[in-house]
Amino acid sequence: MEDKKNPVYSRTDTSKVNMAEEEWKKVLPQKVYEIAREKGTEWAFTGKYWNSTEKGTYYCAACGNPLFVSDTKFESGCGWPSFYQPISKTSVLYTPDNTHGMQRTEVQCGRCKAHLGHVFDDGPPPTGLRYCINSVILDFDKAQAAEKKFDKDKGAATKEKE
Ligand SMILES: [Zn+2]
Repeated sequence: MEDKKNPVYSRTDTSKVNMAEEEWKKVLPQKVYEIAREKGTEWAFTGKYWNSTEKGTYYCAACGNPLFVSDTKFESGCGWPSFYQPISKTSVLYTPDNTHGMQRTEVQCGRCKAHLGHVFDDGPPPTGLRYCINSVILDFDKAQAAEKKFDKDKGAATKEKE
């Protein structure tokens, strides 16, 4: 995680996280908080992963839960990282979202219920689904360089000013 101490962040602990909103606000970087807890959406084509083709695993940036692997990522052209399948059935939760005059299905982290994005039924085989996810709520680890968890890009990102 970034500067602030996040007591629930773990890539191995699968127990559900239930933390008060004010606590989340303290431990998450502002940008992550806005997406995860306030259901914000980053601008299309601005996130760090929408066009990434690197091999590795995507984790929840709020709690560390493994969400997607790069093998299920595809080029959707929508401007957000898109996947056709989560790592497991319990990786994510689904909630009807009828805001903004649309009928959509919200995707939340299965461990901490962070807002991740939405799922649509216009994806490729084998699932036909498109999980359209905000880059901000994803932490990525390269398959071949997992030990370099906090590489240069990540260090630079944490220094960004709001
Ligand atoms: Zn999470």
